[in-house]
Amino acid sequence: MAHPIFSRRRFLKRKVCMFCKESTLSADYKDQEQLRQFITDRGKILPRRITGTCAKHQRKLTTAIKRARVLSILPFTQSMP
Ligand SMILES: [Zn+2]
Repeated sequence: MAHPIFSRRRFLKRKVCMFCKESTLSADYKDQEQLRQFITDRGKILPRRITGTCAKHQRKLTTAIKRARVLSILPFTQSMP
């Protein structure tokens, strides 16, 4: 019999933290292309349950994104057309 909790929840493809997978990769506030993968089209930071980033790297990523915003590499908010 399936576990009542697990069967109710739909499991998405199990994602591996891309920073853990690629050891050469690190959250760089200067790398706009990379950081853009972790923000929504409105400029919000995506939660790690969507990106699959682990807690350690999500924290580094958040710092990098916030730093990039201050340096206007990334927008704080982006107006939708
Ligand atoms: Zn990681």
